[in-house]
Amino acid sequence: MNQYLSELNKLPSKKIESQLRKYATDNKVPIVSESGLFYLLLLIQLLDAKNILEIGTAIAYSTIQMALLRPDILIDTIEKSEEMAKIARDNIKNAKVERQITLIQADALDYNEQDLKENYDLIFIDAAKAQYINFFEKYEKRLRKGGIIVSDNLLFHGLLTTKEKIDSRNLRALIRKIRDYNDWLSKNKKYDTQFLEIGDGMAVSLKK
Ligand code: SAH
Ligand code: MG
Repeated sequence: MNQYLSELNKLPSKKIESQLRKYATDNKVPIVSESGLFYLLLLIQLLDAKNILEIGTAIAYSTIQMALLRPDILIDTIEKSEEMAKIARDNIKNAKVERQITLIQADALDYNEQDLKENYDLIFIDAAKAQYINFFEKYEKRLRKGGIIVSDNLLFHGLLTTKEKIDSRNLRALIRKIRDYNDWLSKNKKYDTQFLEIGDGMAVSLKK
């Protein structure tokens, strides 16, 4: 993101944000882009979202920033990797937001969504890219009418629109999956979706 614009923006805690961003960069953890984070926080404020569900916690970078916005925001966040969940737990504790965050260490595809709240205001889908349709269909039942689903990385690091030839078959299959999700989402009549060139491509879907 343009550094000039970035520095004009405020964050709930710039100190924690830059510490965790540095850790993520050094350890190649794919956290949300800076512009994506600003946008996500804005949506939460506009919606006055109090109940948030996140699929894909990683080190809890996005989770902590969302929680720090306001003390009455509650977040349930699902992370498959035991190793990531452990780091996330430490980070959440250090940021003093453990009261607001419930970290569920599970594969979001297997987890029983009936155990979650029924009326989330916002769902942030940011886990395994090949599974986005499955995540969406499974968890959208827990989203209130007028609520929003934000999906991250719809350009898949630019690979979705590159003119270069992609040699790896697995990578080509993954790209196809993401394209299928984007097409499916744009045709989904239960939602009004905007596809935005923010960060690595972000979709904002409003439940009608
Ligand atoms: N939202 C975070 C980044 C998440 S990165 C941020 O912006 O700060 C994606 C994470 O999703 C990884 O940690 C990965 O382990 C997790 N993940 C992948 N597949 C998953 C699944 N099926 N269920 C839960 N978590 C999953
Ligand atoms: Mg992401």
